[in-house]
Amino acid sequence: MSSVTYGFEAAAAELVRVGHAAAVHGWVPATSGNFSVRLDNGEVAITVSGAHKGELTAGRIMRVDLQGRPLEDKRPSAETLLHVQLYRRDPAIRAVFHTHSIGSTVLSRMAQDELVLTEFEVMKAFTGIDTHETTLRVPVFSNDQDMTRLAARVATFLDSNDPVPGYLIAGHGLYTWGASVADTLRHLEAFEFLFQCELETRRLTAR
Ligand SMILES: [Zn+2]
Repeated sequence: MSSVTYGFEAAAAELVRVGHAAAVHGWVPATSGNFSVRLDNGEVAITVSGAHKGELTAGRIMRVDLQGRPLEDKRPSAETLLHVQLYRRDPAIRAVFHTHSIGSTVLSRMAQDELVLTEFEVMKAFTGIDTHETTLRVPVFSNDQDMTRLAARVATFLDSNDPVPGYLIAGHGLYTWGASVADTLRHLEAFEFLFQCELETRRLTAR
């Protein structure tokens, strides 16, 4: 299915580009967020811990294995486990992006177990959706600093559901994925656009 190929240098260049774009949009404030690509050799290229995405360079991208263990002398993102669990589950996933936008943070705090979005044209940006006449149910997990516990909750949900390619962590942000960097960036942009639309709609219709 996937015909994309990523060596480390190409993947790092893509991650730098995506990181800078996310920073321009205000989706990764104060060194938050993390981005990864699955390499052709089965390893994962991921942003290091604490890197500001607006100032990201290839030197702040590192390799980890599918268990999230560092393959070089750098410290990977604290949320590496949430990336590699997606790669382990689905061989078709080639990129995972995580952002902390205002829209995802605010809406995920207001939602209970899911954020329901209905009948937006931009939903067609998601792989497998070809009409606006649809309802997206984005799962929301409560935040947790224990990544093993959080990853287990995500895994349990994904085992019994076929969700849109993304989920929210309450008061925290969005995880989204796809079969290439381009697919994943399109999903990220679509989610962030939907969140912003939903936020504006709720603001305008409040009281
Ligand atoms: Zn985060």
